[in-house]
Amino acid sequence: MAHRGRPLSQARNSSSRRRFLSAALIGLPAKAERKVAGRIVDDSHLFGHRLRDRQKFAAPKREAKVPVVIAGGGMAGLSAGWRLLKRGFRDFVILEMETEPGGNSRWGKNEISEYPWAAHYLPIPNRNASLVRELCREMGLLQEDGHFAERHLCHSPQERLFIHGRWQDGIEPESGVGKETREQYRRFEELIREAAATGQFTVPMEDGLKPSALDSVSMDQWLRQNRLDSPFLRWYVNYATRDDYGLLAGQTSAWAGIHYFAAREHEDRGPLVWPEGNGFIVKHLLKQLRPYIRPSSMVFRIEDGRTIRVLTEQADYRAQCVIWAAPTFLLPYVFEGAPDTGGLTYSPWWTANLTLQRLPKEQYTQPAWDNVIYDSPSLGYVVATHQSLRTHIDKSVWTYYFAMAEGSPEQNRKLLLERDWAYYRDFVLRDLERAHPDIRECVSHIDVMRIGHAMARPTPGRILGEARRRLADWGAGIVPANSDLSGLSIFEEAQYRGVRAADRALRRLGKG
Ligand SMILES: Cc1cc2nc3c(=O)[nH]c(=O)nc-3n(C[C@H](O)[C@H](O)[C@H](O)COP(=O)(O)OP(=O)(O)OC[C@H]3O[C@@H](n4cnc5c(N)ncnc54)[C@H](O)[C@@H]3O)c2cc1C
Repeated sequence: MAHRGRPLSQARNSSSRRRFLSAALIGLPAKAERKVAGRIVDDSHLFGHRLRDRQKFAAPKREAKVPVVIAGGGMAGLSAGWRLLKRGFRDFVILEMETEPGGNSRWGKNEISEYPWAAHYLPIPNRNASLVRELCREMGLLQEDGHFAERHLCHSPQERLFIHGRWQDGIEPESGVGKETREQYRRFEELIREAAATGQFTVPMEDGLKPSALDSVSMDQWLRQNRLDSPFLRWYVNYATRDDYGLLAGQTSAWAGIHYFAAREHEDRGPLVWPEGNGFIVKHLLKQLRPYIRPSSMVFRIEDGRTIRVLTEQADYRAQCVIWAAPTFLLPYVFEGAPDTGGLTYSPWWTANLTLQRLPKEQYTQPAWDNVIYDSPSLGYVVATHQSLRTHIDKSVWTYYFAMAEGSPEQNRKLLLERDWAYYRDFVLRDLERAHPDIRECVSHIDVMRIGHAMARPTPGRILGEARRRLADWGAGIVPANSDLSGLSIFEEAQYRGVRAADRALRRLGKG
């Protein structure tokens, strides 16, 4: 999972210290493979399918009058709650289907470390990213002197790539790429700089949006139009679109593809990372919001009348405004007057957390925070113990990421559910074995999470098209808030959507 917006030049600036390091194991005795335990840990599709199949739900046990109901306790829903509290409004609840809030920023914990299930980093926010900076200040990440606290900035080595049988620093292929590729890297970077200078690539994305032909072609087409055909550059761009959108470059809007590289100010430091990934941010928000959370409360129906009824099996809420922060595609399953969500599609993903009883043997090199294997269909793994200040780390937890980018999302969602745990275990071990021949001696446990509707897919036409805009602006008493409204699945968009929805709700209540 390469971090967003890291320009090629930044990686190359570090080439003076780049060492090409052999991962070959010399003279290691063959040891017995460990028995690997584990399981598939998710079950949220069971809830979702109850909605999809229009199953019967038990009648709510009680009635409750609450002016603002937030449905969905992911980053968008929590950010809506955060904003309401900031504005002095306390009459709300957050209904979360799962036993714990967090959504795609959930985390887990075992005897070795906490670890993320999905979202795992926050880039250093741009200078004008006022909401993210406000939160960072509140969390003590952004200090009074304007610097980010050292202990939360990703330590070195940050990223490495396994290519041609060895590790190199940085994820952009450098090893054996040749002069022509280097020239193409330079031209690509120049084009990205020019794109950034137009001011249309911002975070949040709404701030800079203007008509652009870039949304009508794919990232692949854009590369070809610019005669950028180096297989190494194309691999890198494809890696970026798989990483951020779960899409191949040929399926991604060029606007979204360029946003990945152009929307961030150049920043030498960062990203911000934690053992539990963005669960660190969730935990902070929960310090204020815990009393407002209603866990295990799936909204199965919304009725819009004199008041708005929000039905869960626990309670029948009577609200004046509902913030729908659950994924937007679910709204038509619970509310008859829902807008058309046509065109909003999602990439399926799966992730795996590996418990390592010892680290694989490596010569002269050590795991970076983010570790990627060239020519692998996966996105590599991040290391939960990376920020540890201990001088010797022997055990660890690695989070392995896989976006099902090839093929249709519907077909892939079927496969996601059909495959058993042993399939995922074998896949992960086989993949990692390319770079870590002794991985089977190290891993004792692999848990797997499947996320069927993980990320909104910014396909060509989606970002600047009328359909997305209409959906994002839809509603009066019921306002959508999920990050999927942006088409870019990142914390900042979830926060922006949540905050915007909270402001809309307060206006509706005549409070703002
Ligand atoms: C594998 C992966 C890796 C990622 N990595 C990063 C990263 O490193 N950095 C980053 O910034 N972003 C990352 N993201 C993007 C991440 O999705 C966003 O950062 C953010 O967490 C999305 O929040 P959200 O609230 O919009 O949606 P969600 O996280 O989807 O939250 C929706 C919530 O609604 C709940 N819900 C659903 N239906 C109902 C219902 N009927 N009633 C009540 N509740 C319901 C769900 O249980 C969930 O808690 C990643 C995403 C994935 C899938």
